[in-house]
Amino acid sequence: MSDTTAAADDADPSVAIVGGGFTGLSTLHALAERGVDAAVYEATDEVGGVIKSREIEGKLLEVGPQRLRMTDAIRAMVTDLDIADEVVTVDDDLPLFVYADGKLREVPRSLSAFRRTDLLSVRGKLRLLAEPLTDPIGPDESAQDAFIRKFGAEAYTNLLSPIFGGTYGSDPAAMPAEHALKPMMGLERQKGSLLRAALSRLVFSEEETPPAASFESGLQRLPSALAEAYADRVQRETPVTGIERAGSGADGEWLVHTEDGSQRVDHVVVTTPADTTADIVEGVDAESAAALREFNYNPLVLVHLESAARADGFGYQVRRTEPMRTLGVTWNTSLFDRDGVYTAFLGGMHDPEAIKRDDETLGETAAEEFRRVMGVDAEVLHVERMPRAFPAWDDSWAAIERVDLPEGITLATNYTGRMGLPSRVREARRLAGELSNSISE
Ligand SMILES: Cc1cc2nc3c(=O)[nH]c(=O)nc-3n(C[C@H](O)[C@H](O)[C@H](O)COP(=O)(O)OP(=O)(O)OC[C@H]3O[C@@H](n4cnc5c(N)ncnc54)[C@H](O)[C@@H]3O)c2cc1C
Repeated sequence: MSDTTAAADDADPSVAIVGGGFTGLSTLHALAERGVDAAVYEATDEVGGVIKSREIEGKLLEVGPQRLRMTDAIRAMVTDLDIADEVVTVDDDLPLFVYADGKLREVPRSLSAFRRTDLLSVRGKLRLLAEPLTDPIGPDESAQDAFIRKFGAEAYTNLLSPIFGGTYGSDPAAMPAEHALKPMMGLERQKGSLLRAALSRLVFSEEETPPAASFESGLQRLPSALAEAYADRVQRETPVTGIERAGSGADGEWLVHTEDGSQRVDHVVVTTPADTTADIVEGVDAESAAALREFNYNPLVLVHLESAARADGFGYQVRRTEPMRTLGVTWNTSLFDRDGVYTAFLGGMHDPEAIKRDDETLGETAAEEFRRVMGVDAEVLHVERMPRAFPAWDDSWAAIERVDLPEGITLATNYTGRMGLPSRVREARRLAGELSNSISE
């Protein structure tokens, strides 16, 4: 495969980061802050991974994530990169809706909204408020069973299933709590009850929810700015083909193979999707690679629409019992003043065949269902297919027990950690702290 006795080149970084998505670039930044020399190897000619902002037909479209939460860590990153004046922030008072029984109904995010929402009956509201009296979430129950047991069937069907299931394009019935609700279980332990945790955040403002935000030229501005800041440490069009131990000792260095040659490094951070990661670590640990190949992903279709509909809010999720294929619609026009642009999400675990339909059919479905909800016509701007969009967090996550890579190779991913962009930065910073300590020892 290669010359494993090759001495380290002066130009070789101490840490090789596989993947120039947001996790890889955030890790590079966090390591640089700690004075650790690292390099990112990105397979394509573009950084950002699933974050893709495109200008199509004169409109700015997000063909991946639509927004991020401007946490303190992301704000600090934005300031370091000198792009703070390009940030566009959303007024968090904007409502979010669920489409149920032929109407958009507001998701309650304050006590007054809870009192007035018609998403839940009086009985459903009282049942939800009884949550502190229920037993904690058990690792062996499904997310659906846990939600129904704790909040009642009505709150599950009308609120939690569309919001939680919609976020992952998944079906909470197929998601074991042990993997899908881990952060919620931690919160429940910490605060005593999920309702108390929600109240302390939403009503008593003990913890501020960071505002939703993007950039004037779209979300991809952030990974692009990171790559510009470390231009000499980001190698595009350089797919990593494998990792190999350098030398025979159990401790020690690694060779990272690319089509352009091999780098000898102390540590490798792998941020690629599970199937690619499996190929990359195959030569190091075949059993971990086999386990990584078992993880299911949910496919997704994004249909960008243009409409003159009047909208004021984040958008809506569709209750799963409605006879509709659309999972939800983001109102980009209202969030970021994006000129009549809406993003409809189709597919997911409930409709995995969506990805196979042709553009025309997908566009027609999205536009027709949009009209049903909003009462106004929409034109299709773009259709984007993502065959492996979201980690499914279903039973296939049992395989995570068998992923056990040797010291010196770390996975920093949205399927071994959490998916949201703030969580990606959190993991990058934690990992950079650990690596800088181990490298300086
Ligand atoms: C449709 C969608 C909507 C989302 N919405 C939101 C949202 O609104 N808010 C939010 O906070 N989060 C959202 N998320 C989640 C968030 O965007 C992702 O979890 C995060 O961007 C993942 O980044 P990553 O770097 O871990 O992985 P990726 O983005 O997958 O990056 C992996 C990188 O590795 C590269 N690569 C692959 N193979 C190789 C190889 N052999 N060698 C080198 N490089 C390789 C890829 O080209 C890619 O650049 C959304 C995700 C999706 C898919």
